[in-house]
Amino acid sequence: MFKKILIANRGEIAVRVIKTCKRMGVKTVVVYSDADAASMAVEMADEAVHIGPPAASESYLVMDKIVDAVKQTGAEAVHPGFGFLSENPEFAKRLDKEGITFIGPNPHAIEAMGDKISSKNLAAEAGVSTVPGHMGLIEDTKEAVKVSNDIGYPVMIKASAGGGGKGIRVAYNDKEVEEGFPAVKAEAKSSFGDDRIFIEKFIESPRHVEIQVMGDKHGNCVYLFERECSIQRRNQKVIEEAPSPLLDEATRKKMGEQAVALAKAVDYDSAGTVEFVASGVDKSFYFLEMNTRLQVEHPVTEMITGVDLVEQMLRVAYGEKLAIEQGDLKINGWAVESRVYAEDPYRKFLPSIGRLKRFHPPEEGALNGGTVRMDSGVREGDEISMFYDPMIAKLVTHGKDRDEALDVQAAALDRFHIEGIQDNIPFVAAVMDEERFRSGDITTKYIPEQFPDGFKGTEPTDYQTLILTAAAAYVHGVFARRAEKISGRMSEPGAQRKDWVVILGDQHYDIELELGEGEATITIDKTAHTLVSNWRPGSHLFEGHLDGEPFAVKFADKTEGYVFRHRGVSVTALVCTPTTATLHARLPEKPKPDMSKLVISPMPGLVVSMDVEVGMAVEEGEAVCIVEAMKMQNIIRAEATGTVKSVNVGAGDSVAADEVMVEFE
Ligand code: ADP
Ligand code: ADP
Ligand code: MG
Repeated sequence: MFKKILIANRGEIAVRVIKTCKRMGVKTVVVYSDADAASMAVEMADEAVHIGPPAASESYLVMDKIVDAVKQTGAEAVHPGFGFLSENPEFAKRLDKEGITFIGPNPHAIEAMGDKISSKNLAAEAGVSTVPGHMGLIEDTKEAVKVSNDIGYPVMIKASAGGGGKGIRVAYNDKEVEEGFPAVKAEAKSSFGDDRIFIEKFIESPRHVEIQVMGDKHGNCVYLFERECSIQRRNQKVIEEAPSPLLDEATRKKMGEQAVALAKAVDYDSAGTVEFVASGVDKSFYFLEMNTRLQVEHPVTEMITGVDLVEQMLRVAYGEKLAIEQGDLKINGWAVESRVYAEDPYRKFLPSIGRLKRFHPPEEGALNGGTVRMDSGVREGDEISMFYDPMIAKLVTHGKDRDEALDVQAAALDRFHIEGIQDNIPFVAAVMDEERFRSGDITTKYIPEQFPDGFKGTEPTDYQTLILTAAAAYVHGVFARRAEKISGRMSEPGAQRKDWVVILGDQHYDIELELGEGEATITIDKTAHTLVSNWRPGSHLFEGHLDGEPFAVKFADKTEGYVFRHRGVSVTALVCTPTTATLHARLPEKPKPDMSKLVISPMPGLVVSMDVEVGMAVEEGEAVCIVEAMKMQNIIRAEATGTVKSVNVGAGDSVAADEVMVEFE
C-alpha cells in the first residue's frame, strides 16, 4: 500500500479521507489556503503544505502548487476529494506525467464522461437507457423549437458542459424554448466557456436515483446499489438515502447492470456514480451523467454495504485487484444523510457565514436502536468563510428499515446544536417529520412543492408543545434553585414556588412545578406529567424522558428568555409568575419597522453589480443588484415599487449581513 498520500481538498472530505488513511496506516498530507490554516484537516493530517490565498483559483485549483506539494513531501499519490480538480482530466494526465498516482479513474474515462453529449452517446451504445431526445448539438432557436416539437413537450434544454445544476432549463411550449434556449446558451458560455446545447425529454415526476460503481485496473467492476437524492434545492442535493424507496429488486438489478456496462465501456477503474432520472409514475429510468469521483453522499452506501469506498479507491489505485465480488454485496438496512449547510432556511437558503460560536454535533454511535455517523470538517470556534462551498457537515444515520433510519436522523438532528451562523437543521428536521416524505412519495420538485412560499419553520404539535413547556419549566426551576443557593436568600421566588406561567411563543400555559433531584412533576391542564432529566446549566442539549418517552430539545439562554429548537420548531419560552404573565400579556406589541424602503444585504458577500442609480424608478420585484457569496450569485430584488433615494455600495464592494445597500424615497 502507499506509505503517504496527499489530499488535494479541504473541509469535511479531507477529514473523511484522513480517517480511512489513519486506519490503513497511510500517512497523509493536506494542502491548505490562508483561510484553512487552522482547520481540522490541517490539524489531523501528518503534514500540511500552504498553497496560497483563500480564493480556490489561486490555491486548490492550481495544479502546479499541488504537484509541488507532492514533490516536497514525497507523497506517492493524490486523492482529489470532490469538486476542485477531481473531475479534471488534465490534472489526472499531469500527475501521470510526473509519476504520481491519481486516486481516481484513468483520464480517458474522465474525459469521456465529462461531456453530457458524448457520455450520452456512449451510454446508448453500451445498452444503457437514455432520455429520449436529440443526440446532436443544436445551433439556433429555430432548430431548438423544431427539435422540441419532435421530442414532444415538456423538454429540458441542457448545456453539454453543464454541472452543479447550472445550464439547465425546462420548457413546456414553443414560447418557453424561444426564451430558454438563448438563456441556457448564454449561461453555458459564461459559466463553462462552452455553449454547446442539446435538448431531451423532461421526465415527469422525476426522481434522482444513482448507482455507485467500483472498478479496478484488471477489468473488474461491481455496483454497490443505489442512492436516492431527490430532495434538492436549486438542483443541489440536501437529503440522500440508500436504498431508494422507489426501486424493486428487478429494477435495482437492471439499473446496476447498466451502470456496470457503462463503466466497463470506458475501462472505469475507481469509485464512480452513474446518475439516472427515474419516473415516479412507472419506474422507467434514464441515464443522466456519470460523475467520475467520490460523491458527497457516499456515506449512505457505506452504511448499508459495510464497504469503505475510500479504502477501495486507495487499493485499486495502488493496483490491487478488487476484493469484492457482486455476489458478496448485500443491502443491510437503510441509511439517510442530511447535508448540513451554512445557510438560512428562513431566507431562501441564502449562504450564512461567520464564526461557529457553538458547534455541538450529536455523538457518533448508537442512538435509539440505530447508528449515527458524523462527517464534518469544522470545530467550535472555526470561521465559515465566503470562499468555499457552504456544506459544513453531513449527518448520516442507519436503521434496520427506512422508518428507523429517519427516526434516528430526526433524533440526531434534535441533538445537533449550532450557534453563530444560520444552519439548515430546522429545515431538514421538518422534512423528516413530513407525511409525504415519510411515505416515500418524493420528486426533485419536492422542496418547491411542499414549501411554495419558502420555509417558515413549523408550528409545534400538541405533543411538542407539551415537551417544550415541560422542558422550559424544568430549566427555569433549576435556574431558580441555583439563584437561591447563590444568594442564600430563602425569599427568592424560586425553589418554593409551584405555580408558574410558561409563555411559549404567544401562548400562555398555567403550570405547577414540583422539582426534585433529576426529576420533576409538572402539572399542565390538570394532568400531572413526570419529567426525568439530568440537565445542568451550561448544557445546550436538554435530554429527558417525559412520562417515559425519550426526547431531546436544543436550548439557548438568551436575555429575552429561553430559545428552544426541536425538529422544525424554534420558539422562545418565558417562564414567569402569574402576576408577571398578566402584565406581560398587556404589553403593547412592538411596532415592526418598515423595511420595504430599504434594500438590505441578506448575507455578507461581494457586490458583483449594482443595477440602479439615484432617481431611478424601480418596480417591485425588479433586480436591484447582485451579491456573490460561496460561489453563488444572488439577485437582490426590490420589495416595493419606488424611486431610488440613495445607493450606498457599488460593484466590487464587500457588504456585511443586513447592510443597507439602497434606499428608496
Ligand atoms: P453533483 O451535485 O455534481 O451531482 P455532489 O452532490 O456529489 O454531485 O456534489 C459535488 C459538489 O460538491 C461539487 O460540484 C462542488 O460544488 C461541491 N464541493 C467541491 N468541493 C467541496 C468541498 N471540499 N466540500 C464540500 N463540497 C464541495
Ligand atoms: P448536473 O450536472 O448539474 O448535476 P444533471 O444532468 O445531473 O446536471 O441534472 C441535474 C438534475 O436535474 C438531476 O438531478 C435531475 O433531478 C434533473 N434532471 C436532469 N435531466 C432531467 C430530465 N430529462 N427530466 C427530468 N429531470 C431532469
Ligand atoms: Mg448531476
